[in-house]
Amino acid sequence: MYINLNDLGDIGGKKNVSMEIEIADLNFRDQEVEIKDDIKLEIEIYHTSDSFLVEGEMEVNLILSCSRCLENYRSSALIEISEEVLKKDMEDLEKLFIDEIIVDNIILSLPIKPLCSEDCKGLCPQCGQDLNEAECDCEIESIDPRLEKLKEFYDD
Ligand SMILES: [Zn+2]
Ligand SMILES: [Zn+2]
Repeated sequence: MYINLNDLGDIGGKKNVSMEIEIADLNFRDQEVEIKDDIKLEIEIYHTSDSFLVEGEMEVNLILSCSRCLENYRSSALIEISEEVLKKDMEDLEKLFIDEIIVDNIILSLPIKPLCSEDCKGLCPQCGQDLNEAECDCEIESIDPRLEKLKEFYDD
């Protein structure tokens, strides 16, 4: 999606842009990021001598996959945008390609370890049961590290 810069005026000019944009789902670090609704963008664009400044925020609704229980969950965020697009990097000074700015800012906002909730119990490492839904009967062995040493000794 291009934003028209024709009506921005000379250096020092600015304009408000309020729009909804559809962005395709992303794939980032092997993680599918589904973009649920159109993105609500509220920005101001300033014309400077060698660039266009883009300042504002956007509202995004994503579907992420929890790194503990692997369930998909909905994540809504208000993301601040502050970008400078240099004129020398633009093909056409009358059009600003906004998709790349949006995608970059979504990726920057993604959690390294997405969690459906802070206290997600995750999956049982033995049987794979989702421990948020039900307990399982596995006994998770936790051997005292001192006993572990002793065990190694006898195993030899
Ligand atoms: Zn989870
Ligand atoms: Zn289990």
